[in-house]
Amino acid sequence: MPLMKILQILYHCEIIDGVTTDLIRQVVKIANRGVHGEIVSNEYINFVKETDSEIQSKLKEALAKLHYTVCPKCHYVGYSKYENVCPRCGYTHDDD
Ligand SMILES: [Zn+2]
Repeated sequence: MPLMKILQILYHCEIIDGVTTDLIRQVVKIANRGVHGEIVSNEYINFVKETDSEIQSKLKEALAKLHYTVCPKCHYVGYSKYENVCPRCGYTHDDD
């Protein structure tokens, strides 16, 4: 799945905010310039350096908002926005 699509989903599900989404988009655009051999100015490089720690802390916060879940119905194993709610099938279950 493309990174921009993942960002869109995380933003839509309110896992990350609009500011963080925008910062990551801009960093990805700058990285793409480098990947494609375009000249990346100091202004862009400084932007990436300045936003790096903010993006990392926002992503850590986002991960902390998610709950690790195992769905007894569809056997999904992974993260969910809501505790005990399966993000795949929507089944709500109790841990006990
Ligand atoms: Zn499920």
